[in-house]
Amino acid sequence: FLAGRTALVTGATSGIGLAIARALGAAGARVAINGLGTPEVIAEAQAAVLAAGAPEARHFDADLRQVPAIERMMVECAAWSPPDVLVNCAGMQHTAALAEMPTECWDAILAINLSAAFHTMRLALPGMAERGYGRVVNIASVHGLVASVNKAPYVASKFGMVGLSKVAALEYAAQGSRASGGVTVNCICPGWVETPLIEPQIQARAQAIGGSRDDGIRELLREKQPSQRTCLPEEIADAVLWLCRPQSHNLTGAAIPIDGGWTSQ
Ligand code: NAD
Repeated sequence: FLAGRTALVTGATSGIGLAIARALGAAGARVAINGLGTPEVIAEAQAAVLAAGAPEARHFDADLRQVPAIERMMVECAAWSPPDVLVNCAGMQHTAALAEMPTECWDAILAINLSAAFHTMRLALPGMAERGYGRVVNIASVHGLVASVNKAPYVASKFGMVGLSKVAALEYAAQGSRASGGVTVNCICPGWVETPLIEPQIQARAQAIGGSRDDGIRELLREKQPSQRTCLPEEIADAVLWLCRPQSHNLTGAAIPIDGGWTSQ
């Protein structure tokens, strides 16, 4: 159902973003892949998206900490094929107590997790409105809905992402039609998803209890996620696909938890 459409996915060289890029490609979209990595990592991501069924996959190397780089990426992507689907998935994490948090971490996390989404959205949404169809899916987190200790910049960035998405949802709610699909903006708020991003936390927890990696995961889940099961990146990608369907035209401004009950407590 995405044949003839173009998707831009940030953070698509790893983890959740890569799974989303593959799923959108499998649904027929041309995929613009943004994300950091070695040439091998980038080539592998591109190959995986093509193998999934994307008619085309192109890498855009913008470092999302740099506003001019984001602006260049958006111009180049529009010249290639303007995005109908924009998934802001790039993110980073650093855990430390608020008073010990390096100020560079605050700046980098806010820039990548939040400000980059503002810049891609302000540059992509007008085109979506003109064409009457657009989907922005922002990968926030349970930490856009509730807090945890030692994650000041991450939680601040994700709460910001939820608020930013609601404003955009309102501003674009009346664009398009049922027939064209409309323009929607939503957040997905995952709990623990098995990707490289949470590896340091798994290792720290395993070490703290003197157990294995699996024990570390069990301990993280026990504390917060009632299902006691992690999510796989593909399961997050499935929710993104659902939001992209034309039938989801009235689903906008939502922050959808995929968290095994974490935020129901
Ligand atoms: P990951 O580390 O596997 O992937 C992060 C991606 O972001 C990579 O492609 C990386 O290259 C990209 N990135 C980082 N800094 C960048 C920069 N400066 N410029 C461009 N790209 C940059 O992590 P993930 O777990 O797949 O995380 C994806 C998103 O999901 C993040 O926003 C994260 O906060 C969110 N999330 C993850 C979990 C989880 O448990 N893994 C839970 C909730 C939310």
